[in-house]
Amino acid sequence: MIPPIYSPSPERYDSGMKYDRCGHSGVLLPKVSLGLWQNFGDTVPYSRSEEIVLHAFDNGIVSFDLANNYGPPYGTAEKTFGRIMKESLSPYRDELFITSKAGYDMWPGPYGNWGSRKYLMASLDQSLRRMNLEYVDLFYSHRYDPETPLEETLQALVDIVRQGKALYIGISRWPIEAMRTAERYLRERDVPCLVFQDRLNIFDRKVEKDGLSDFLLENGIGFVAFSPLAQGLLTGRYLNGIPEDSRAARGSHLKADTITPEILEKLRILSGVAELRGEPMARMAIAWVLSRPAVTSAIVGCSSVTQLDETMKAVDSPPFTPEELRIIDSVC
Ligand code: NDP
Repeated sequence: MIPPIYSPSPERYDSGMKYDRCGHSGVLLPKVSLGLWQNFGDTVPYSRSEEIVLHAFDNGIVSFDLANNYGPPYGTAEKTFGRIMKESLSPYRDELFITSKAGYDMWPGPYGNWGSRKYLMASLDQSLRRMNLEYVDLFYSHRYDPETPLEETLQALVDIVRQGKALYIGISRWPIEAMRTAERYLRERDVPCLVFQDRLNIFDRKVEKDGLSDFLLENGIGFVAFSPLAQGLLTGRYLNGIPEDSRAARGSHLKADTITPEILEKLRILSGVAELRGEPMARMAIAWVLSRPAVTSAIVGCSSVTQLDETMKAVDSPPFTPEELRIIDSVC
């Protein structure tokens, strides 16, 4: 059977999504990006992944965040995305901002992880093949490698841009001292770091405490926040137990035993604040991330279109009152 031809919503840029400038650059990113870390691999039906990705695009979410090892198993989220590109999205390639990364374990042996030139170059070639792309919009070093000289990793990133395989470069989860080196090295070679990516949510504010978010603001680097919902904790999902189809039930990255009575108590207070604001906790949690000065975009995950609909409405959430912020800060 010939699959129906996808035709995107003509209202995709009038549906309410907002776009923010990424640091001192020409790139605008949607305030909500879609991440394909979980729920887009071989363990879920292709039709569901396709539905979510196309729904995102139909609603102005043009930025899709991937990595070589997203799945599970590794590589399969990129394969899923590659199939969606081939079957539906390729005519709209120029409307999309597609990112991938390398840094974590991908294949066995000494060249399958961390930050060597050998690994980064080979991994990006594999990612491009899996995603049916000629280039990614941005390629990230996925984690800091304490053993490879920083200059080797950074020069590989520069060369990847010079080869035309990525338009921009990003760094994820590097400590601030390494970021200082990276910022200088990349700027001096005219391939400035476009984006820094790290975790930021109501519960986890390490990037702010470490001074990284100030560093990014001072140096005109965009900040893209991952796990803005603390993997689903900062939603109503776990207030009445652990649903069978949830990430905590699967237990691979969010462990059920982290949902302690103390955490539940905090979640109930946050849920009360959200109720007073007239919105679900998930939306409030994203709105909180988007209200932080350094943040360009929050990368959300989701396992359904309904979840995505709820979180993307955060772009229209009301501003926080000082009293709401006081309660949120006191709980966390
Ligand atoms: P979130 O904190 O947004 O968690 C997503 C999960 O929250 C969903 O899978 C779903 O859980 C639940 N959820 C989402 N919306 C709702 C809702 N409206 N109501 C109830 N539950 C909801 O983000 P992730 O942790 O998934 O990370 C997002 C992205 O960030 C990743 O896909 C990846 O692209 C990037 N990332 C980058 C990392 C890095 O090292 N650079 C590390 C981690 C993530 P359920 O599946 O249980 O339904």
